[in-house]
Amino acid sequence: MIQTRGLAYRYPGAEAGDVLHFPDVEVAQGTVLLLSGPSGCGKSTWLALIAGLVAPTAGTLEVAGQRLDALHSVALDAWRARAIGFLPQKLHLSAALTVQQNLAMAQWAAGQPEDASAIATTLAALGVAELARRLPAQLSGGQAQRVALARAVLQQPRVLLADEPTASLDDEAAADAVGLLLATARSHGATLVIATHDARVAALISPQMNGQIGFQPLRLQRKQLSKT
Ligand code: ADP
Ligand code: MG
Repeated sequence: MIQTRGLAYRYPGAEAGDVLHFPDVEVAQGTVLLLSGPSGCGKSTWLALIAGLVAPTAGTLEVAGQRLDALHSVALDAWRARAIGFLPQKLHLSAALTVQQNLAMAQWAAGQPEDASAIATTLAALGVAELARRLPAQLSGGQAQRVALARAVLQQPRVLLADEPTASLDDEAAADAVGLLLATARSHGATLVIATHDARVAALISPQMNGQIGFQPLRLQRKQLSKT
């Protein structure tokens, strides 16, 4: 479950009246939430709030059974490493580390010892088991995205957040990326949030849902960034 009430965020250094206001959201565990709207309307900011990467200026949020205002610093980091899988727009794979080591880092971040068999199983589920010893620079764009998705779901997170997962992908690759996210979220019972300004994504989600899990669209608008 993701539940927000009166959520607002002002970037540090922004003018006092320059506040992003977000509509209230209540989504059941396992739902696919499509967060759409034009560039600059606040999609990436909303994901950062849900992941507890930034604290709201106003309002409350509960994510996967946790009130985020009850957690600080170390506890919040530990919660995020366990509960949230993040597929960022820029994948942020560590260039100096192999695929295997990049995934091991996610286990350390969650306070666990390296578990090579869990890494192998997760890479295999995403069809990239043979890439474990490669460096990120030796991966194609699609392979790198699969590796980043493997890293995101390694800890079986309750919530999987994907930021513009189809940006700069052709139609076929975009369909693959969305299909992979839906299948991965479903296999983990995770709530999936796809933030995108790509109009193709809505059309890609609906036919693949098969009525198995809930689907909820949420459209943010530029006017929700209020300037006074
Ligand atoms: P989206 O992901 O929908 O394109 P963002 O959440 O990235 O939108 O941005 C929402 C608004 O917040 C935009 O007006 C943007 O300019 C502003 N913004 C984003 N990041 C920062 C930042 N680090 N500092 C100040 N303003 C920011
Ligand atoms: Mg964005």
